[in-house]
Amino acid sequence: TEYSREDILKMAEEQNVRYIRLQFTDIVGHIKNVEIPYRHLDKALDGEMMFDGSSIEGFVRLEESDMYLKPDLNTWVIFPWSQDDTKIGRLICDVYCIDGQPFEGDPRSNLKRVVSEMQEMGYDKFNLGAEPEFFLFKLDKAGQPTTEPSDEGGYFDLAAMDDGEECRREISRTLEEMGFDIEMFHHENAPGQQEISFEYSDAVTTSDNIQTFKLVAKTVARRYNLHATFMPKPIDNQSGSGMHYNVSLFRDGENVFYDEKDEFGLSKEMRHFMAGLLDHARGYTAICNPLVNSYKRIQSGFEAPRYIAWSGHNRSPLLRIPSTRGAATRAEVRSLDPSANPYLATAVILNAGLDGIKNETELDTPVDENIYEMTKHQREVENVEDLPTTLYTALKALNEDTVIQEALGSHIYKQFHDNKSLEWKMYSAQVTDWELDEYLTQY
Ligand code: GLN
Ligand code: MG
Ligand code: MG
Ligand code: MG
Repeated sequence: TEYSREDILKMAEEQNVRYIRLQFTDIVGHIKNVEIPYRHLDKALDGEMMFDGSSIEGFVRLEESDMYLKPDLNTWVIFPWSQDDTKIGRLICDVYCIDGQPFEGDPRSNLKRVVSEMQEMGYDKFNLGAEPEFFLFKLDKAGQPTTEPSDEGGYFDLAAMDDGEECRREISRTLEEMGFDIEMFHHENAPGQQEISFEYSDAVTTSDNIQTFKLVAKTVARRYNLHATFMPKPIDNQSGSGMHYNVSLFRDGENVFYDEKDEFGLSKEMRHFMAGLLDHARGYTAICNPLVNSYKRIQSGFEAPRYIAWSGHNRSPLLRIPSTRGAATRAEVRSLDPSANPYLATAVILNAGLDGIKNETELDTPVDENIYEMTKHQREVENVEDLPTTLYTALKALNEDTVIQEALGSHIYKQFHDNKSLEWKMYSAQVTDWELDEYLTQY
C-alpha cells in the first residue's frame, strides 16, 4: 500500500489512535522506538521528531547525538492488540543527522544505499523471501522464560500434541491483520519449534517485515503464557533456528536469474551472483550469524549448513536452488539465523552477490552429495571449505573482506566489530559447566 501524509492523518483520526510508535533498528538488531501522542503526528510525519541517539547501541557519535526520525509512510499500521481506548499506530523510520543527511549508523538507511548502488548497475529490484524459524517456550511461575518447549511435536505434526498450535495460528492471524501475506505455517523439527512463511518482497520491505514478525511473535506468545525466541540454538541436540534467505534480482520487471535457453534454466548472472555469495561466505558470516550461540547451530548439523558449497537439491550446503523456474527462479541462502539484523544481513548478501556479477566470478560445480557424509579427504578433493566455526573467526574473516565492509559502511562496520569482539571476549572468559564436568575431577 502507498499512503500519503493525509491518508495517515485520516486513518489515525478515524480509528482513534492515541499514540504512535516511531520505530527503528539499532546495529545489533534490536527494535527501538520513541512513542508520541497523536497531536504530534503531524510533526512526526514531517520528519521533525528529534531524539537523542547517544545511548543507542552502536549509534554513538562524539560530535553530535541529536537525530531526526523520518517515517516511511508505507509502513503505517495499527497494532491489532492495542486496546480500543489507547490504540497504537506504528511507523518505521529512517534516522537522519541534523545536517539533513541519512545517518551512516542507521542500518535501514545503509541498506537503502546498497540498494541504490544495485540500481546504478541496472537492476530495479532485489527480491527477498525470508524464513525465520523460532521456538515457543513455557514461562515459569514467576513469568520468566524457560527452555521447556510449548509441546512435544515434530516436523509438520498435527494438533492434539501441539500446544503451540493455537499460539502459532494467532501469530499468523495477527500478521495477516497487519497486512502480511501468509503462505503457510507449520511445526518445525524440534519440540516447540515453529515456522510461519510469508510472501517475499523487496530488500527493505522484507527486512522491515522480519522485524515486525519478531515483534508480533513475541507479543502474541506472551498472551499464551509462552515466550517466542529467535535465539539460533536454544537446546543442544535439537534443530536450531535458521532464517533462510530466498533471493533473486529483477531488471525491467523480469527475473534475471532465469534463462530458458540454459539446460538448468539458470542465467549467467545468477551463476556469478551465486559465486559471489560463495566467495564472500566467510566474510558475511559474522553479520548473518552474529551471536556466540549462532555457531552452535552451524556446527551441529540438523540441516544447518557448515560447508561453503551449492547444490541443486541437497539441503546440506550453504546455497540451494529450489526447483521452481521462471519468475520464481531463486537461490536459497541457508546459513543465516534469525538473530541477524535483517537490514545488515540483506545489505551484505546483496553486495556479495553483486560483487560476483561485477567480477564475473566463475561458479564451481555443484556438490550434490551429502557433504556431512563425505570424508575430509573427499571434501578437500571437491574443494569444499567450511564456514567460520566461532564468532571470533567470523569476525576475523569480516576483517579481511572489504566488499562486506563496504556493504556496511565504515561506521557500522567499526561499531559492529567492536561490539561483537567484546561479546566474544566476555563469553570466552567464562568457565562453563561443561568444563567443570569434564575437567574438575579428571585433572
Ligand atoms: N532448522 C534448520 C536450520 O537450522 C532448517 C530446517 C528446514 O527448514 N528445513 O537451518
Ligand atoms: Mg521453510
Ligand atoms: Mg524451516
Ligand atoms: Mg527453506
